[in-house]
Amino acid sequence: EQSLKGKTALVTAAANGIGRASAEALAARGAHVIATDIDESAVAAMAKSSDSITARQLDVLDAKAIEALVASVSPVQILLNCAGWVHDGTILDCDEAIWDRAFDLNAKAMYRVTKAVLPRMLDSGAGSIINIASIVSSEKGAPRRFVYGASKAAIIGMTKAIAADFVRDGIRCNAICPGTVQSPSLNDRLAATGDFDAALAAFKDRQPMGRLGQPEEIAEMVCYLAGDLSAFTTGQAFAVDGGWSI
Ligand code: NAD
Repeated sequence: EQSLKGKTALVTAAANGIGRASAEALAARGAHVIATDIDESAVAAMAKSSDSITARQLDVLDAKAIEALVASVSPVQILLNCAGWVHDGTILDCDEAIWDRAFDLNAKAMYRVTKAVLPRMLDSGAGSIINIASIVSSEKGAPRRFVYGASKAAIIGMTKAIAADFVRDGIRCNAICPGTVQSPSLNDRLAATGDFDAALAAFKDRQPMGRLGQPEEIAEMVCYLAGDLSAFTTGQAFAVDGGWSI
């Protein structure tokens, strides 16, 4: 297990699911974690349980708030862009407002936060940027995930572009492509089908391992990519998907 002592990590959407598990795992390995979420009370509760976690409210759709937050915290060596939103539907269900919302939250928000954080990473000559994409992206299509898959594919393109531009500057940028992972929003999606148990069974069934992933299983990859053990790795999209993409 690698130590992240002395590093500061900024995590978006840190209050639940993959963001939360990752923030806690980064802190457990010694990083100082700035855990941000639109839900302030949830990140505040996390900060109460760990001296290594500082909670800050942040809406990743708000460019001014992002700039203000980044200016007010110590330089960040690890950035985990985690916020995302699933629209359930085909192209025929996706109007322009839904398209814009999906791209705004899933892709443009990562551009905003990374653009704000990167100059100070460049000043210090070190940084690891980790973007949570999805296996449903340029890696794989899935039914009723039209704009989700399109916007998650954009993350992989953005990840490779940033990695290519700053590869000589000590900056690494990688993406993680989870399969279906247990989280509050997944439970909401299952409930929204009207038959939670049948939907859960179908989601498990599409995972070749026959089970959902746990957020902690994604957090392990986050910690690996955050630290120096992965120093030779950049511009990649890592599947952690229970074999869905085999
Ligand atoms: P989740 O969806 O349950 O939680 C998301 C968090 O994002 C919440 O705490 C919410 O308050 C926060 N949030 C929402 N809008 C925000 C905004 N505008 N600004 C800041 N925070 C905001 O967590 P999850 O399911 O683990 O998803 C996290 C990421 O992982 C997303 O990008 C998602 O697309 C991706 N992902 C999830 C799965 C899965 O099966 N759960 C699979 C692949 C990829």
